[in-house]
Amino acid sequence: MKYKYDIIRSQRNSMSVSISGENRITVRCSWSMPAEKIEKFLDAKAEWIDRIIMRNAKRLAANDDVIEFRKIYFDGEQLPLVVGDCNKVTSEAVYVKSFDDIEKLYIDTCSAEFTGAVYKAAEVAKLYPNSVSVKKYRGRWGCCDAKNNLVFNYLLFMLPPPVRHYVIIHELCHTLCHNHSPAFWKLVSDYEPDYKNLKKQLTAFDFLTSLY
Ligand SMILES: [Zn+2]
Repeated sequence: MKYKYDIIRSQRNSMSVSISGENRITVRCSWSMPAEKIEKFLDAKAEWIDRIIMRNAKRLAANDDVIEFRKIYFDGEQLPLVVGDCNKVTSEAVYVKSFDDIEKLYIDTCSAEFTGAVYKAAEVAKLYPNSVSVKKYRGRWGCCDAKNNLVFNYLLFMLPPPVRHYVIIHELCHTLCHNHSPAFWKLVSDYEPDYKNLKKQLTAFDFLTSLY
């Protein structure tokens, strides 16, 4: 195959390939899978791989200003990121004293309202978390532990509200079902019928979780 890829071997029989939002290709297969078989498998999927790689490349280009820290997402909009003498978010721009202040600014600005939205959604769905908190997370949007403590990535405040709502529903559903089984996705669809589309939209923002 013309692209580089990582191989994760484990005790499994099937082989699969995934492509991250940043175009990292990962093949998952058994311990004994020969390299030629992996290549053959990827060749058979070449058209699909090309399509995803191209789509991601286009999206990454559209986010050039964000990746270079000239702009920053807030509520799904790209705003100018201005380094100055204060930390604040306005409808025109995001102002920070230094890039290190982004996390604190977003958490101070949004987390109270966000936590309120989580509890409201919990009330509607009758899925009750033990606690809700917001913090910096690398590589993921949220997490529900075995005791139903929910932790959300503050980078969610950068996303369009419907996509953020999907993550809230996703984690709330984990309080009842701690895996990604068909029963779990059925539960998600009960509370967010458009989840497949929103899940896809979320993937387009995955690059943010390794940018900050
Ligand atoms: Zn999950």
